[in-house]
Amino acid sequence: MKETVFEADVLCVGGGIAGLMAAIHAADSGARVIVAEKANTLRSGNGATGNDHFRCYIPEFHGPDVQPLVEEVAHSQVGNARTMNTVRVWMENSFDIVKLWDSWGIPMKYKGTWEFAGHTLPGRPFTTLKYSGQQQKPVLTREARKRGVQIVNRVTVFDLLCESDRVMGAIGLDSRENQLVVFRAGAVILCTGTCVRLYPGIAPGWNFNRAYCAATTGDGRAMAYRAGAELINVEMPQRWAGPKYMARCGKATWVGVVKDPDGKPVGLMSKPDRKYGDAIADAYHTLFADYAKLGKAPLYMDCRDASDEDLDYMKYWLVHEGNMAMLNHMNEEGIDLKKHAVEFTTYELTTAGGVRFNEKSETSLKGLYAAGDEYFGGISAAAVFGWLAGENAANYAKRAKASDVAVARETVDQKMSLLSGMLSRSSGASWQEANIALQQTMQDYAGGVRSETMLQAGLAHLGRLKEKAYNGMLAGNPHELMHCIEVLNLFDVGELVFLASLERKETRGGFIRPDYPYANPLLNNKLLVCKMVNGKPVTEWIQMKG
Ligand SMILES: Cc1cc2nc3c(=O)[nH]c(=O)nc-3n(C[C@H](O)[C@H](O)[C@H](O)COP(=O)(O)OP(=O)(O)OC[C@H]3O[C@@H](n4cnc5c(N)ncnc54)[C@H](O)[C@@H]3O)c2cc1C
Repeated sequence: MKETVFEADVLCVGGGIAGLMAAIHAADSGARVIVAEKANTLRSGNGATGNDHFRCYIPEFHGPDVQPLVEEVAHSQVGNARTMNTVRVWMENSFDIVKLWDSWGIPMKYKGTWEFAGHTLPGRPFTTLKYSGQQQKPVLTREARKRGVQIVNRVTVFDLLCESDRVMGAIGLDSRENQLVVFRAGAVILCTGTCVRLYPGIAPGWNFNRAYCAATTGDGRAMAYRAGAELINVEMPQRWAGPKYMARCGKATWVGVVKDPDGKPVGLMSKPDRKYGDAIADAYHTLFADYAKLGKAPLYMDCRDASDEDLDYMKYWLVHEGNMAMLNHMNEEGIDLKKHAVEFTTYELTTAGGVRFNEKSETSLKGLYAAGDEYFGGISAAAVFGWLAGENAANYAKRAKASDVAVARETVDQKMSLLSGMLSRSSGASWQEANIALQQTMQDYAGGVRSETMLQAGLAHLGRLKEKAYNGMLAGNPHELMHCIEVLNLFDVGELVFLASLERKETRGGFIRPDYPYANPLLNNKLLVCKMVNGKPVTEWIQMKG
């Protein structure tokens, strides 16, 4: 396998929304910037084919005081475990990003005005601006290129290069050229998105049928952990909901009412309202699974009482919400929302936690920044904290020198030998087999209900599987090798889910431990930190401040 070296002041790992925004602002701040992207920034990640809700504060819509909105967002699903100060910084910067995006050609107004709808309960402040995001990735890619950002597509970054306590670059696999890529950089920004494929999906035979982009496999979390950075709340489960068997995020875009098989509304709305949708599925993510357990399923998203105008409105936004395939499928199958209700389901488990970063996007390691769904926040958090990360990393890089390849030689050689080993084996397990074995273990031993004995048994099982994966996975070509890397990263994230679940001796929200059946008040406002110290995982409780 060949080796090639790139050099930059700032390396953005992942060219999704956060990565491109970071790159643009780092370049504006005078840095030489590289974006290393696993796929192609034109259509990659969770914003690949669009989004339509952008959390933001717009003074002319909300009034002069940002505080009510800060509190609303802080107490919503994206405020989880974020300090009030971080949410305030997010909201205060959000309108600048809205104006920037609009000026670049991402339409942020609907029919000439700021349109807020969805993710909102009647009587509460609106937090999400409707915007037409279908072309956001080509637009952001163009803006990055205009500023001289070097975009290196088809490179999966899989480890950080560190010197003492500082991050100074990264190593990746070019899955087209079959070569190892070494990045030397003054600062690195992790923007690899969320963590999918850790648990079985709703249609387990189809591993890529996921609500979120199946290429976002927690690589940033795994790299950060191995480098010694802090991760938080990885054990806390997160679940989404949406149409059954064809998994796709976007439930807040539907203008309907969630109903039981007798046509009785089960949630917060009794008739469709395009301003609110039915936020029950936001407020109660396991609704559909719980009704199935009670023998009261299936539940349906029923749009039949919506007006023609409201249905057109909804379809317009589903196009921008990356749901074109869903709309095409409904057309092909003759599913008419005027006549048919659509069955919804609870999607798979995933981790709500991720890399710990502050309101400046700094992680616990020098030279390492993170943004976006490295700790879930949705599109506007990705845009705002990506933007802030870009400027802060560029300023840091001005003071720091890039890594010396010679210093990183040992790490690079180790990684080269791991990859070459998987490519040269003539027999072994495929990445699919390893991924499915991991998912099965996660589901059975660290699923919806967790306990000391099951977690200990599962952790031991996972340890054996991980060793087998390292020593026995086989890649027939560089593309499969990329998937092998993803699976190894998922094993690390899975292991952390087990370790942190063992440490959280309580039941809180969706985290259920019947052996500790109540929320321990001593753990209120505390974060569970995991990090690697001297090659060993360590957990620690810290108080949330600010
Ligand atoms: C259909 C759908 C609709 C949604 N709608 C909304 C909405 O309306 N509002 C909202 O707030 N949120 C929405 N979301 C969530 C939103 O898209 C994400 O929160 C957002 O994209 C996060 O941005 P990000 O840059 O952190 O990650 P992503 O946009 O997912 O980008 C991550 C990038 O990193 C790349 N990558 C991953 N691993 C590596 C690696 N090892 N090396 C190199 N590159 C790597 C990926 O290919 C990808 O390009 C939606 C998600 C989906 C799937």
